[in-house]
Amino acid sequence: MKPLSVMIVTLLIYVLFIGIRIFTNHFPADSQRLKTAQNDIPAATEQRADNLWAYYLINADNPLRKDFTVGLDTVQGNFQLDERCAGYAREMIADAAADGVELTVVSAYRSVRKQQENLESYIQRLIRSGYSSKEARVLAEKEIALPYTSEHNAGLALDILTPDWWETHDDVTDDFENTEQFRWLSENAHKYGFILRYPREYENVTGIIYEPWHYRFVGVYYAGKIRESGLPLEYFYKTNF
Ligand SMILES: [Zn+2]
Repeated sequence: MKPLSVMIVTLLIYVLFIGIRIFTNHFPADSQRLKTAQNDIPAATEQRADNLWAYYLINADNPLRKDFTVGLDTVQGNFQLDERCAGYAREMIADAAADGVELTVVSAYRSVRKQQENLESYIQRLIRSGYSSKEARVLAEKEIALPYTSEHNAGLALDILTPDWWETHDDVTDDFENTEQFRWLSENAHKYGFILRYPREYENVTGIIYEPWHYRFVGVYYAGKIRESGLPLEYFYKTNF
């Protein structure tokens, strides 16, 4: 073979090798994990499941009905959740405090109107920092759900930070995962029916960035199953309904 053909063949083999490595590194591990977890996903009618009323999907493709209403109860300060799960949240906060970990709620139930205001004010903030209005909207909608598509609108989600968070940050960030509050929640939130709703590796499944501070009530039984699987709620929903 001529030196040039040898080079081309070597290059092709190299490219193929790299391709196989990338493929085996990413896909089989993930699909295996999904397969194993899905085999273990219990039916939505599972007898042992509690609070099935809370076990449903709210996202960009599954908005709340326009006539959605919710009865509220206080969780901490002025923050409220659906009255059927507020008690679970209060118990979680009290038990964390008993372990010496102070969980500070910074967001809970938000009305649809408030959701719209938050979205618009974040878009304006991005525009002021140099984004075009189109870019700002796209970016903002990745971080703040449209009205009717947020779990906060349903009164099922809590955003939790440390008590001194705002002294050192001007925004919620991934840094939260380095706190004792995050470690406590990772170990315990499921016992009170709450899950880390937007895990890091599943942004293109949930449509929402990784949010270590956002916890969603789904009932104790399913919270345990979902935590065990490491998968987002979307996969459970697809399997069950
Ligand atoms: Zn949230």
